Amino acid sequence: TQYFLDRIEAGKHWNAYLDVSAHLSLDQASKADKIIASGKAGKLTGIPVAHKDVFVTRGWKSTAASKMLEGYQSPFDATVVSNLGIPDELNPNGAGMVCLGKTNMDEFAMGSSNENSAYGPVLNPWNSEYVAGGSSGGSAAAVAAGLAPIATGTDTGGSIRQPAAFCGLTGIKPSYGRVSRYGMIAYASSLDQAGPMGKTAEDCALLLSAMSSHDPRDSTSLADSGEDYGRYLTQSWIKDSANSAKPLEGLRVGLPKEFFAEGLALEVANAVNAAAKALQQLGAELIEVSLPKTKLSIPVYYVLAPAEASSNLSRFDGVRYGHRANEYRDLSDMYKKSRTEGFGAEVKRRILVGTYVLCHGYYDAYYLQAQKIRRIIAADFQAAFEKCDVILGPVAPDVAWRLGEKSKDPVQMYLEDIYTLSTNLAGLPAMSVPCGFNTSNLPIGMQLIGNYFSEARLLQVAHQYQ
Ligand code: GLN
Repeated sequence: TQYFLDRIEAGKHWNAYLDVSAHLSLDQASKADKIIASGKAGKLTGIPVAHKDVFVTRGWKSTAASKMLEGYQSPFDATVVSNLGIPDELNPNGAGMVCLGKTNMDEFAMGSSNENSAYGPVLNPWNSEYVAGGSSGGSAAAVAAGLAPIATGTDTGGSIRQPAAFCGLTGIKPSYGRVSRYGMIAYASSLDQAGPMGKTAEDCALLLSAMSSHDPRDSTSLADSGEDYGRYLTQSWIKDSANSAKPLEGLRVGLPKEFFAEGLALEVANAVNAAAKALQQLGAELIEVSLPKTKLSIPVYYVLAPAEASSNLSRFDGVRYGHRANEYRDLSDMYKKSRTEGFGAEVKRRILVGTYVLCHGYYDAYYLQAQKIRRIIAADFQAAFEKCDVILGPVAPDVAWRLGEKSKDPVQMYLEDIYTLSTNLAGLPAMSVPCGFNTSNLPIGMQLIGNYFSEARLLQVAHQYQ
């Protein structure tokens, strides 16, 4: 813990952390030491972890990188935080990990570059002139720069996978419902899902196993969410297969033709194709599949996510939660000034879009239409999974971009999410796995998508590849 606290101090320029309290971390570390001394240590006891600032935590501030929640202290821990934390009366089953602090992010998890944080952008540790990706950019930079061994993130439309790809990490967004959303500051509740970001699939499997649980406080939490996601890691795809040189024999990898079409950078396409060849060498069979509605995932997501966000963010009114303006004439002036001052530009844009698509006259044309296409997108995946076991593609159309390069044009930024949004719309598990570098030495990530509840199998494929 002390080693990582020193690294965090020396690595402040990346802007990966929003709140660090060394005494709290060291206090947890000494509790972990006692658990170890008593012989009751689990696999993760005493290992430090960094939490995205979207998870509320006792002790550390919880702001979701917004001025709206500046200085906010939660009286309770998110389920993810307590599942991973030091056991106490409130959470006797905590994994015993030590919290290193809270990581920077796009405000309320809205963004793809971490430039929407009210506390400044995160710099990419591979090249500080480039973005770290978003919205879990702080978690990604923290792990990539060695300021944490592993971190938590959330993924509503790519926010674990894309920063992991931009920073050369492995990350997994589990099936919707695997990990409790209790205490996770809500963005778009039907899409939000938490997951681990680490160096390897093995690390992610360990963290995910401890993070996930059935939680009666989240009505969308799955009843059976308590697996060992690492159970297949070292096995071959076909159990007890004799061919040890081809551990992935029997695995059918689907390559969606829409993921390799126009708009994909050549260097990314080459790296992902090389990864496909590597899987083939391990025994997998490559099959072309089709996800015909891929392009529509952008308009569908950017109707549904803002719609849900506009509703979720109504609680930040300066009364129930959030910043309150100093001077105001009456109640409605107070709401108006508080929200004007507290929210950043992108958050305001999404609230406006969300209330617009939900309003009476437009509901059928936008919101309802988007919900219908969402169902078709989910059905397209099921058709693809008749032909293959996992889907392979890029995480993003290109590597990280230069800071500021896409900030002026929000639509330009939204288009970067083309390969990640559809899995959230369908609720499927998907992961990001490093698969090389471009000529400027920036990391490239490949994406593996599985059918519902196939996390352990996805991690197995990633592990065999790594
Ligand atoms: N980039 C997407 C957005 O801005 C996804 C963000 C996320 O997954 N939290 O909404």
